[in-house]
Amino acid sequence: MRRYDVTVIGAGIVGLASAYRLLQRHPSLAVLVLEKERQVGLHQTGRNSGVLHSGLYYRPGSARARTCVQGRAQMVAFAREHGIPHETCGKVVVAVGRRELERLPALCANGRRNGLDRVEVVDRAALREIEPHAGGLGAVWVPYAGIIDFAAVAAKLRDLLLAAGAAVTTLAEATGIRRSADGVEIATRAGRRASRHLINCGGLYSDRIARLDGLTSPARIVAFRGDFFELAPAARHKVRGLIYPVPDPSMPFLGVHLTRRTAGQVECGPNAVFALKREGYGKADVDGRDALEALSYRGTWRLLLRHARYGIREYARALSRRRFIAAVRRLVPSLTDAEVRPSRAGVRALALAPDGAMVDDFLIVRGERSVHVLNAPSPAATAALAIGSDVAEAATAAFAL
Ligand SMILES: Cc1cc2nc3c(=O)[nH]c(=O)nc-3n(C[C@H](O)[C@H](O)[C@H](O)COP(=O)(O)OP(=O)(O)OC[C@H]3O[C@@H](n4cnc5c(N)ncnc54)[C@H](O)[C@@H]3O)c2cc1C
Repeated sequence: MRRYDVTVIGAGIVGLASAYRLLQRHPSLAVLVLEKERQVGLHQTGRNSGVLHSGLYYRPGSARARTCVQGRAQMVAFAREHGIPHETCGKVVVAVGRRELERLPALCANGRRNGLDRVEVVDRAALREIEPHAGGLGAVWVPYAGIIDFAAVAAKLRDLLLAAGAAVTTLAEATGIRRSADGVEIATRAGRRASRHLINCGGLYSDRIARLDGLTSPARIVAFRGDFFELAPAARHKVRGLIYPVPDPSMPFLGVHLTRRTAGQVECGPNAVFALKREGYGKADVDGRDALEALSYRGTWRLLLRHARYGIREYARALSRRRFIAAVRRLVPSLTDAEVRPSRAGVRALALAPDGAMVDDFLIVRGERSVHVLNAPSPAATAALAIGSDVAEAATAAFAL
């Protein structure tokens, strides 16, 4: 059996970028990437909003803030170099009522602390110049934000890895991890693989992979499905770039927004509803093990009870098209029912501590001969190349490479 130096489990954008950065740093390493699906990037990476986030909201000094700002610049350079569809179209964060308007300067100040010098609060007239169909009293204008095809980024990373001599094996779900005298042995659906070291980038299954490696994750992954709608082609002109609501500080990942895609469609969403299947994209999807794990976890109940009001509202939006459209119309009032129609769904991996607190920052933990990425929520796609450098650095230190 061939023995690899480092095996990465999970070919989402974080796993691929980590392998890529590791090989850039240590070109002679034998690197293997294992992916359970037929293709790379099929889950969170291929089902997200496609937004290049700016770093406006994240806590200054956090890994999310740092890697978002650095990673966006790196991602734009990568996209330019490799001809990946992207555009820095900018975004408006629209204040609909007085109270939201009052929160804009603080949002702007937070962005400036994260190095976004050109963010500014704009009045209603200036907002209409940027987004003529947006409602609202004013906005934060964020010229840094943009759109990109993250699935194309993942495919390009795979190609670059292969060209650099790495192996990327699909249809190879890792099902067991065993220590050997000088490394690890990974049982996969495509046979066993031997490796000196392991990096876990399993996204929605990262906590389970950590458990296979004997590590007790400080958080459990709980799945939240997000349903998207899209605008009819004749209504696409009503959104030029990215139109976002002012985030609620206690639930910053909630909030239906309008997003232009690189291929020209305009999407609205996603909502966020507790899901009983980690990679379940249909409203009725249930997986016995996923459901049992989520429902038997104290952290899930604490989160759901603590935020019951939000939960009910999100469920109502998931079940009622009318309510969903009402949320969209807060931002673009002229949209009609006929102009908004259901499209696809994605599922977010939410890392929850036992007390129900959402793990706020990216979480990279070292095991024995292993490094585990246990929380990589948004903006991890934007930040992937910078997170990949962090993972490569952690692996270099942990594995004494
Ligand atoms: C609805 C939604 C909208 C979002 N919008 C944005 C956005 O606009 N901008 C942004 O920057 N971020 C966004 N995000 C977040 C972003 O998509 C994720 O943070 C990022 O894709 C995480 O990448 P990942 O590689 O960790 O996970 P994933 O892309 O989920 O990859 C994990 C991979 O591991 C594989 N895997 C799992 N278990 C195993 C196993 N046992 N063996 C082998 N392989 C395994 C999976 O099949 C999968 O391919 C969004 C997320 C969602 C869900």
